[in-house]
Amino acid sequence: MDPLRPNDTIGVLGGGQLGRMLSLAAAALGLKTHIYCPDEDSPAAQVSSQFTKAAYTDASALAAFAQSVGVVTYEFENVPVEAVAILQKAGATVRPGALALEKAQDRLIEKQFVRSLGVATADFHAVDKLEDLGEGLKKVGRPAILKTRRLGYDGKGQTRLTDKDIDLHASYEKAVAFAWDEVGAAPSILEAFVPFKKEISIIGARGVNGAVRLYEPIENVHADGILKTSTIPARIETQTRRSAEEATVAILEALDYVGVIGVEFFVLPGGGVIVNEMAPRVHNSGHLTADACAVSQFEQHIRAVAGWPLGDPARHSSAVMENLVGDEIEQWSGIIREQNACLHLYGKGEARAGRKMGHVTRLTPQAS
Ligand code: AMP
Repeated sequence: MDPLRPNDTIGVLGGGQLGRMLSLAAAALGLKTHIYCPDEDSPAAQVSSQFTKAAYTDASALAAFAQSVGVVTYEFENVPVEAVAILQKAGATVRPGALALEKAQDRLIEKQFVRSLGVATADFHAVDKLEDLGEGLKKVGRPAILKTRRLGYDGKGQTRLTDKDIDLHASYEKAVAFAWDEVGAAPSILEAFVPFKKEISIIGARGVNGAVRLYEPIENVHADGILKTSTIPARIETQTRRSAEEATVAILEALDYVGVIGVEFFVLPGGGVIVNEMAPRVHNSGHLTADACAVSQFEQHIRAVAGWPLGDPARHSSAVMENLVGDEIEQWSGIIREQNACLHLYGKGEARAGRKMGHVTRLTPQAS
């Protein structure tokens, strides 16, 4: 595929806030976006030039979409791999490809893939039925976290098994059965609980020519499984940074990746890192790059999928990004009066509990 030219169109599977910020970055470079998603209410469609509301299983809508764009990308890792196959059959180039989706959609496959690269993950055990859970608890110990293999996000489809939780039930068997019920008795993995010192992420990008650019590590704090704050610079040792960067590059290369990826790590008390998970798309922790770096993760992703050279990920400011979740969006009227606070709202109607409504990035410009 030849590189796109200004006024060409990028197709985006998924219509949430990530698609919205990708569309805005594309527009700044004179590129158009066509959003494809099953929901009427799409934050991305509000700011893009075309919108198809159709299911990811609708072969004729996908084929028409493929015809209308120069390249297809996704902002949502749970797009069915079959949809990508239909798009490719209809002649579309999809970046990043189906391989990244396959590896990232299933927590078991993801962990096996990461380990195959010689990169550490939490100990885990596949749980397909209730009995496997008992075996897994013997293997990985307690506390542990049971997570559905597919379709979990922001702490959903997860339940913890600590000694305290287990004691709340009439028996160990009842506690285990309750946890299995909590994940909907769906194929899952049991992960050892990692006593991490902190959480970091690396936002990396790989271009069509194989060039790799990494943003500096970002330090993340979660509350109830949802990202609360992201901070740069991360307060970590040089060796920790190096290990996380090496793991990110290994992942990008093994997937022959084109675009931006977010890789989440736990930093262990001794400074080592283990991969928690990877997102084959722009990532919430990378939102601060929009205000603290010359080239944002969104622009970087657009450059990569358009076949353009990658930009400079260096930071010009220190930054703290805070998600505005549910009714926290009401803080907007105070934030808008603050100095050096960059407010981003996603245009979503209803501020339901746990719904990401916007974010604010507070900058401390670097002294020159
Ligand atoms: P996840 O959806 O898997 O990224 O989990 C959301 C958050 O839950 C992570 O960012 C951690 O804060 C916490 N968490 C998930 N898995 C583990 C684990 N194995 N050990 C400790 N904390 C975890």
